[in-house]
Amino acid sequence: MKWPSEVRLDRGARVLTLRWPDGNELTIGHAQLREACPCAECRRLRLGGDVVRAAQGLTVTDLQSMGYGMQIVFSDGHARGIYPWTYLAQLA
Ligand SMILES: [Zn+2]
Repeated sequence: MKWPSEVRLDRGARVLTLRWPDGNELTIGHAQLREACPCAECRRLRLGGDVVRAAQGLTVTDLQSMGYGMQIVFSDGHARGIYPWTYLAQLA
């Protein structure tokens, strides 16, 4: 699997940028990440037909590397989602 060579968190612009070893960069908005949270709780909401909505002004406050991806902590306190690199690549 491809791993990014660099992960940049821009709280001002509210985007996350992943740079891959081939030089490609992906940029994903913080709200989009929150709304696509892959944790069991958010997945269950989406399966039930609900939409996971990011609060206005929501930001990513912390990132924890998990090897195959990363755990993303949001300003609304939600921190259950572990985002595999392949999932992030699909979102961008
Ligand atoms: Zn979630």
